Amino acid sequence: MDVRPLIRGAELEPYAVVSTLRDVTDRVEAERQLGVAGRRRDLVMLKSVDGYRILDAQGAVIEAYTPLESESETAAKLIPFETLPDADRAVLVGMFKAVRGHPGATRSSDLLIRTRVGARWFEFSMTNHLNSPEVCGIIVNFRDVTARKAAERAVIFQARLLDAAGQAIIATDARGRIAFWNQAATHMYGWTQTEALGRFVADLVAPVDSTAASDDLAERVAAGLSWTGDFRVRRRDGTVIPVIATSTPVFDDDGTFLAVVGVTTDITDRKVTEDELARRATHDDLTGLPNKVHLVKHLDVLLTGARKDRTEIDVLFVDIDRFKVVNDGIGHVVGDQVLRAVTRRLVRHLPDAFIARFGGDEFVIVHPRQPDAAPDATADRVLDVFRAPFVLDGLELHLSASIGIAYASPTDTSETLLRDADAAMYKAKENGRAQSCLFDRVLRERARSRLDLEGELRHALDRDELEVYYQPILALPALRVAGFEALIRWNHPARGVVSPDEFIPLAEETGLIIPIGEWVLDSAVHQLGVWQQDFALADAGMAVNIATGQILSSSLNRAVESALQGARIPASKLTLEITETSIMGDIERSIRSLRTLRETGIHLAIDDFGTGYSSLAYLKRLPVDVLKIDRSFVSDLGTRFDDRPLVEAITMLGETLKLRVVAEGVETAAQLETLNEARCPFAQGYLWSRPLPATALSGWLTEQGLSNSAGRGLT
Ligand code: C2E
Ligand code: MG
Ligand code: MG
Repeated sequence: MDVRPLIRGAELEPYAVVSTLRDVTDRVEAERQLGVAGRRRDLVMLKSVDGYRILDAQGAVIEAYTPLESESETAAKLIPFETLPDADRAVLVGMFKAVRGHPGATRSSDLLIRTRVGARWFEFSMTNHLNSPEVCGIIVNFRDVTARKAAERAVIFQARLLDAAGQAIIATDARGRIAFWNQAATHMYGWTQTEALGRFVADLVAPVDSTAASDDLAERVAAGLSWTGDFRVRRRDGTVIPVIATSTPVFDDDGTFLAVVGVTTDITDRKVTEDELARRATHDDLTGLPNKVHLVKHLDVLLTGARKDRTEIDVLFVDIDRFKVVNDGIGHVVGDQVLRAVTRRLVRHLPDAFIARFGGDEFVIVHPRQPDAAPDATADRVLDVFRAPFVLDGLELHLSASIGIAYASPTDTSETLLRDADAAMYKAKENGRAQSCLFDRVLRERARSRLDLEGELRHALDRDELEVYYQPILALPALRVAGFEALIRWNHPARGVVSPDEFIPLAEETGLIIPIGEWVLDSAVHQLGVWQQDFALADAGMAVNIATGQILSSSLNRAVESALQGARIPASKLTLEITETSIMGDIERSIRSLRTLRETGIHLAIDDFGTGYSSLAYLKRLPVDVLKIDRSFVSDLGTRFDDRPLVEAITMLGETLKLRVVAEGVETAAQLETLNEARCPFAQGYLWSRPLPATALSGWLTEQGLSNSAGRGLT
């Protein structure tokens, strides 16, 4: 038996131990006899397990040994050494030439050789022993190394696999020194394998912003558990990347600790997506501006800072005037373009402000006040933004904005500030639009109750809290009942009866005016049908008030038709009352819409005539049938500031233009007398009846002797 360590090249450690155990009794005996040959064989046997050849200086074989088939399971014995393929022979010839002239020189090479049992790896080594008196030749050893090769390849394959992984794979020993570092780790962290191996992993791959993560990791791994978490790592070049990592302690079958294997993935891409999602959650898609959520957060931060630094913050609530007109009238596409164009201008004009889209056509601008600037300095800059017309899609749009300003007091929250700025904005609208208004305490009260009311109005219809009251309209001077005006009321459970002046503007802003308006139309027309049947009122008509939002809505025509059809009332019995101000927003479109409406046969009335600022020029173009003289003129009749000439002028105007004139708000006999003198043809007012619920007015009609059985006129 022979046991020898095998040492290769400059390595100090043996890479294998060769033990050979053979029955060589006969051979040893023969060798002894052979002398030199025996010593040669001893030497060769030290190196060879599978076989050898000894060549002379010319390359001729002077001795050959190939184990017999029975002696070894290795395939080497099957090699017909002398019949190697040319390529392999060439390798061997090259080795031979390299060692031949250099006594003591060794060359070795692995060759894959096709044998009768398949391809197998052989390690060939050649050593020049020409000068050795015991050998006098070149020894060629060969060994079957197929198994070793396979193991090596498996290791390489695994390493390649680990390299091919997109994840950095790092194994550390018990002390945290890096024992394995794949290519992805190099790619991810910038350290080469050579640089990394043997270093403490904590020195190369440490979380930059949280020691909590590494403490937690260490604790779990020490307990034999795996840990997963994400943290940020500083790379070799100083840049920081977000990673997600899993660290797992690995043990062998006996439970002996081998290594901690850490697998980390660069999640920069995922973070980018996450950031994008976060951006979308905090920004408005259409304009790219921060949205309401973002605004509130930003304001909260600013307010905290302002409380400390005692700086002033202005919050501007900007609402584009009559944006609905653009959006409903010209279309949403242009509406969107307007919003983007306004955004661009705002951003350009106010580069140092925080501009958010609050919703719809509302923008909020947050601006730290310059030390000696006036509170409305920023508002003036915003108003400037709207001075030049917007040219979109070939259309020239003249827009304006109403701005509410609130500035932060120490007790303010983002919520109260925004609410106050909003209230101030509504005040600016009321004051005539295209201007700014500063929030004050009076507005604060209004803002609070307005908010409550808005929420409740949404439910008023479902909860049956709305009711239509009716006021009779009388023909002068005979005082015959000519018709009725429908006037809505809100029976608020807590506030009692709420006046339409209070909630109709709210309904307009919230869009609730459409369902509410349709409901009033239906109720009123239906009620007219009832009264026409029950009383001697076959010619009576019904007047219904219509808001701006309804005039510009595409559904009004349909609503009117369906109301009339439902009650079988001819169109000529319905009068829609519009105010001068309600059509001023978009005169051209209002005129078009009203013309179409009137073609169905209904009548149109201008309500509150004299209070608006419409010129007579528009009056001529409007398809109007009725003028209603505003109550304020009537109430002055018979007093010191007598409006008689004005009333007379309107009546005459009515005669000329073939319009019926109705005087509103007649309360006294003196007023009636004056109206009669002015030959005003119609009137309504408390003098005869307040607006009443339908049943109450039925009672009144009965009192007037108008029941179908009676059929007499008013006296
Ligand atoms: P309006 O159309 O000018 O209605 C006349 C207002 O004068 C009514 O107020 C009525 O109650 C009141 N009035 C009538 N006679 C007299 C009187 O002799 N003396 C005094 N001091 N007042 C009198 P009301 O009902 O509070 O309605 C206010 C406004 O609300 C209406 O003014 C109208 O513009 C609007 N409105 C009422 N109902 C509706 C509705 O269903 N839809 C819309 N869009 N607006 C409505
Ligand atoms: Mg009216
Ligand atoms: Mg009126």
